[in-house]
Amino acid sequence: MAEDFFQGYWGASLEVLKKYNCRVWSQAECQTTGGLFKGTILPRAAFQDDQHIVMKVNTGYNIGVDISTITSMVETDYKKANYHIPEKEFPYTEGLPHVKLLGTGGTIASRLDYRTGAVIPAFSPGELYGAVPELADICNLETEKVFAVFSENMSPKEYIALAKKIGEEIQNGIEGIVIGHGTDTLAHTAAALTFMCQNLPVPIVLVGSQRSSDRPSSDAALNLMHAMTAAGHGDVAEVMVCMFGPTSDEYGFLHRGTRVRKMHSSYRSTFRTIGDTPVATVDRKRGVVPIKEEYNHRRHDRDVKIIPTFDDRVAILYYYPGMKPDVLDALVDNGYKGIIWDGTGLGHVNKGMFDAIQRATDKGVHQYMCVQTIWGYAHMFVYDTGRDLMNRGIIPAGNMLAETAYIKLGWALGQTHDREEVKKIMLTPINSEITPREPYNGYLVYQGGVPEVDEFVRKVHK
Ligand code: ASP
Repeated sequence: MAEDFFQGYWGASLEVLKKYNCRVWSQAECQTTGGLFKGTILPRAAFQDDQHIVMKVNTGYNIGVDISTITSMVETDYKKANYHIPEKEFPYTEGLPHVKLLGTGGTIASRLDYRTGAVIPAFSPGELYGAVPELADICNLETEKVFAVFSENMSPKEYIALAKKIGEEIQNGIEGIVIGHGTDTLAHTAAALTFMCQNLPVPIVLVGSQRSSDRPSSDAALNLMHAMTAAGHGDVAEVMVCMFGPTSDEYGFLHRGTRVRKMHSSYRSTFRTIGDTPVATVDRKRGVVPIKEEYNHRRHDRDVKIIPTFDDRVAILYYYPGMKPDVLDALVDNGYKGIIWDGTGLGHVNKGMFDAIQRATDKGVHQYMCVQTIWGYAHMFVYDTGRDLMNRGIIPAGNMLAETAYIKLGWALGQTHDREEVKKIMLTPINSEITPREPYNGYLVYQGGVPEVDEFVRKVHK
């Protein structure tokens, strides 16, 4: 078959490529009214529009160049790229721990198929070994693709399936589990698994990547190596998120599943423990170095407790000035049973909401207050507003993160609707979702790559 030099291009964009004699996979310089772009011309998926030419520019980013802005194009070189990850047999090494990688999707599990434009999973042990051969020095790996979704499509149904899977793997003797997951809702899944999988004998490490493995600045390989190290060799047997620590690639942080948040839409060092310190650092030289003195240690028994419940009639209401009560009424009238309020300051909403809040409580809706400030506690005794809200049934949720509170309330309502029982479950921490105090300087420190953090980590590592 003749080679297709214009894969996926059609209509006007094909005309432009032909006019300037530039082929897919060529190195090109594209002069536009917005500046000069240098890079590789990538194929397009056939279903995409005919108004753009896609280039991988030299920084590694893929950009779509609007053809109406192109004033000239020159092909400077041509080299067909090979994006196939070589499949190599993952070697078995006596004495290394057995780790299971459960794939759910997201950037970490994917590479772009430039022919179809689809993001396809790269998750067989052979492919992973081909891409990151260092993994074979860390563990004996088995992989299983449980889902192949971007993490915005994860939901309670998937949390339950994952929790059951974790239970089975532990009973079968696995020594650590890594879960590959999209970063957007990684923290929600980590919270769900913390509540659903208790009394863990081995580490459960969720890992993602902010940049896909076809980009030079990808964090996928390092995050995977750190996660496998933590799962196979670490002593912390909790549900954790493992991602870049500082902006450099010096070490990763292990964050507790209930206290972690994605804090930047594109930085690799996006995950931060909120209201506490991370549990540990991890790097390939020192392995897992605990920061917290108290944590759940690895054990040999298999006595894990799986509680796979969830009532999805729960919502988060992020308060904004001018919010009207019909927003809450609509949820109540649609049968919602739990509301997590994300209030201002110490946990407030406006007076206009009061009647609707009372009505929700009278209808048996469970309402908890978290704070939009992210750091700090809902303290509802300080101002009249807080007291008025508590009198109408809202319960302060301490320093629980709103996303964690949402997951916990759904999980609790999956077990009981008894008001006191639910309250007891909500306010009794399972793993630090409410802490007695926050580190006094934690708000400033632990943001990665700044002198305070470097100094702090040096102390931990010595
Ligand atoms: N939207 C993607 C996801 O969360 C981003 C990522 O994988 O990091 O699945």
